[in-house]
Amino acid sequence: MNLEFLAPYFIGPYGENNDVFEGILTELIRDHIYWRRNIHPEDLPAISTFASQSPEYQSAIAKTRAELHKLTADLKQSVPFFSPRYIGHMCSDLFMPGLIAQMVTTLYNPNNVSFEAATVTVNLELEVGNQFATMFGFNTDKKQSPCAWGHLTSGGTVANYESLWNFRAAKFYPIALAQTQEKLQLDCPSSKVLKSPLNKSTSWELINLSIDQVLELRAETLKYWKEKYPNKMDIIESEVEQQRIEHLGMGIFFSNQWQCKQPLVLVPASAHYSWEKAMKVMGFGSAQLVKVPIKSNMRMDIDALDAILTNAKNHSIPVLACVAIMGTTEFGTIDPIHDIVELRNKYREQGLDFYIHVDAAWGGYLSTMFRKEDGSTISHDYAQSMFRYFPSEEVYQSITHVHQVDSVTIDPHKLGYLPFGAGGFIARNREITKLLTQKAPYVFEEDKDSEATIQFDKLGQYILEGSKPGSMAAASYVTNKVLPLDVNNFGRLIKQTIKTSEYFFDKVLELKEKLKDKVHICLPYTPDTNLICIAINPIGNSSITTMNEFSSSIYQNLKIQKDVAPKNQRFIGSNTYLLRSNVSDELATNLCGLLEIDQKNFVSRVEDETVQSDKIFLLRHTIMNPWLTDNTNGDDYITMYCDYLEELILKQLAS
Ligand SMILES: *Cc1c(COP(=O)(O)O)cnc(C)c1O
Repeated sequence: MNLEFLAPYFIGPYGENNDVFEGILTELIRDHIYWRRNIHPEDLPAISTFASQSPEYQSAIAKTRAELHKLTADLKQSVPFFSPRYIGHMCSDLFMPGLIAQMVTTLYNPNNVSFEAATVTVNLELEVGNQFATMFGFNTDKKQSPCAWGHLTSGGTVANYESLWNFRAAKFYPIALAQTQEKLQLDCPSSKVLKSPLNKSTSWELINLSIDQVLELRAETLKYWKEKYPNKMDIIESEVEQQRIEHLGMGIFFSNQWQCKQPLVLVPASAHYSWEKAMKVMGFGSAQLVKVPIKSNMRMDIDALDAILTNAKNHSIPVLACVAIMGTTEFGTIDPIHDIVELRNKYREQGLDFYIHVDAAWGGYLSTMFRKEDGSTISHDYAQSMFRYFPSEEVYQSITHVHQVDSVTIDPHKLGYLPFGAGGFIARNREITKLLTQKAPYVFEEDKDSEATIQFDKLGQYILEGSKPGSMAAASYVTNKVLPLDVNNFGRLIKQTIKTSEYFFDKVLELKEKLKDKVHICLPYTPDTNLICIAINPIGNSSITTMNEFSSSIYQNLKIQKDVAPKNQRFIGSNTYLLRSNVSDELATNLCGLLEIDQKNFVSRVEDETVQSDKIFLLRHTIMNPWLTDNTNGDDYITMYCDYLEELILKQLAS
């Protein structure tokens, strides 16, 4: 494969772009110094030229140098993420334009909590939010409603928290309106949103509205009250705030006369552990997190989801959200987003509504491949013409339906090739931020173009975090400008990772064939994206514990270890487990058949550790390094890795 188009964008494993990197960085560091001097060029230097002659100064500088040298010496023990020999977790070499933007912006130290602390980078962050929203297919034209918005977080975990924080604000807001109406004995308008007026609606009706409906109900009700009770608005407004779940707390809110039950959050069994944390942080309790089983393709089982929703409906249990994963952390698989949207529409008709969040922390950037420069979506045929296998019908449908969900998480510090500290949260309807600020700005409510009420440059009001680095916004902005988020720009980079994964996939099949008399090599699912897992079992072995020990011994050679220097490792990989409790009986039977292990010992609950196991050990490979298959200039690391794996298998068989 010819990878020349990637050449300008990375420092390179050999430091090939050293001169460019150093040249630009030096130029921009100097430029920063000139900027300092030119703010008030008439001022005299604050640090005297004699200062450097004092022994104290010299010893301080010496100490600084000594500590920095010690730091960088220690850092040599770091994981060499940049190397094509690293195929472990979700990191790789960094995208040079973004990296330089981050390093240089740090010198200016903007704080994106608000415009006053970041006169330049807050706007860049909002622009990045628009770029991601556009990539996912959301409307970003403020003249049309709903209009999306997005911002950056420290990572995917916080973006996931933020989705539940937003959803909670919307879900229970109508109850606060109804409580206020009752308490203050206010008249109600006839509603465009509700079947009957606010004071005649049931709590079940009030907590089963879409986000757009909640916002419309709020607007129509506050507008009516403002006209009817112009002098009482302060009281009304503060009453609404006091009746909200955020003010009362879960305990009091759920025990009030409306008798709502605690809401559920539905995630696939393959969900990232941040969802468990999110439930604890939000106070919903991890007991309310329902894990929907996954099918043999490691995607959410839609029939199981359907059954869970029916049960919720029959027992009047509110569902806050259903989370779909676009690129699971362990397997890279993609949940059927289009099917989840369809189910949501079906249950909406039946009076059970819930919000949908797509956790695309890993897979979000795959959307670049599906978007043309003019913003339109590419056809499935065109998408398939770029690859051997990718994308399946399901994957194509999922990725092209993201614009129908309520919010999305994306991690620029994963497939965006940016330094750590960059996650992103995108919401389909920016008006939801009105529910997040302390004061309801009803005063401007009539403005159709209600920008006046949302001051996004006071970012800290609408997000979970406070002070935050403007440098990450700059990094993401510059990246998206140098390579816009479409199929002919950033998409080419992502395309390469998929092509390399397909190449790797074929190589694994070759190895499987070659070693078929010695071991079973099994791909437990067909990859949806660029993460590939394999299970290995020696021929003739039917014990699951022996198989896991065998794979785990092989993995010891691929694992980051405290006492092994990176230079002494030929390749670095990662591992994961396929848990019995997370998969269907059908998938368990299939896998045990393929690996020829005794299925009765693959159990959900282990009673005898010597023979039983609740999991299957998998070698896990993240295929994102740009230089894995450069066989025109450099090495073909995929072939090298497969040869090494063969060597390890044979060695382990002989031991
Ligand atoms: C990585 C990941 C997260 C968490 O993101 P961080 O940036 O590590 O906080 C959440 N969900 C998925 C699917 C992920 O892959």
